[in-house]
Amino acid sequence: MQITVVGSGTVVPYLKRRQSCVVARAGAQTLVFDLGSGAVRGMLRSGLDPFAVDRIFFTHLHPDHTVDVVPLLFAMNYGASEERTRPLHVTGPEPFLRFWGSLMEVWGDWMTGDYATLVSELPHECQSPIDLAGCRLSWAPAEHRRESIAYRLDAEGGAFVYTGDTEYSESVVELARGADTLLIECSFPDETPVPGHLTPSGVARIASEAGVDRVILTHIYPAADSASLPSDVARNYDGEILLAEDGLQFSV
Ligand SMILES: [Zn+2]
Ligand SMILES: [Zn+2]
Repeated sequence: MQITVVGSGTVVPYLKRRQSCVVARAGAQTLVFDLGSGAVRGMLRSGLDPFAVDRIFFTHLHPDHTVDVVPLLFAMNYGASEERTRPLHVTGPEPFLRFWGSLMEVWGDWMTGDYATLVSELPHECQSPIDLAGCRLSWAPAEHRRESIAYRLDAEGGAFVYTGDTEYSESVVELARGADTLLIECSFPDETPVPGHLTPSGVARIASEAGVDRVILTHIYPAADSASLPSDVARNYDGEILLAEDGLQFSV
């Protein structure tokens, strides 16, 4: 799997970091996790084709994880040089269908084309993983918003987990168990924690308990954004630690 952190930022307007977006190239498919503001332009900046997207998954419904689905689908309809024929899958956690219905009421005429848009809603608990061509998708509740879930991709070569927004969560630990790479939010410094989010000590606790080989820190508020963030995590975690930046690419 080839992963790109398109946006590593948050709700705070910040030139250095776009809002949340992660693109995974797995098997023959392009999967997108979250589409915060700036994600579509960020894909271009990272050398990715926004029109190549096959499946979109949302961790939760906060605008800094969802709003760029509007310009992306609008562009697929009116801004592409080639007409799209293959289907687009759009998936989010319950009550995603209600969220999508509201969006369709306002912008649906412009966001849906002649190609099939297949919209689905995931229950908070994953009963059985979903087989996608070349990888397997599972998920688990995260501790942030009522609907929040974290995702895991298992492919030949390894497992990748993306937490979305969360604070410490046993179900995220279980989901991440033995994964090769955990892309995990680290919103605030330990000195100024905020409910619903992680600080370096919480990141270290999840990563250690899950026994992952590598963590990559994302969803960085400006208050937490310092080069010392990885060493703060390293106090309680032995694996490899990277601080994401927009456009960071790695393989799993
Ligand atoms: Zn967020
Ligand atoms: Zn959020």
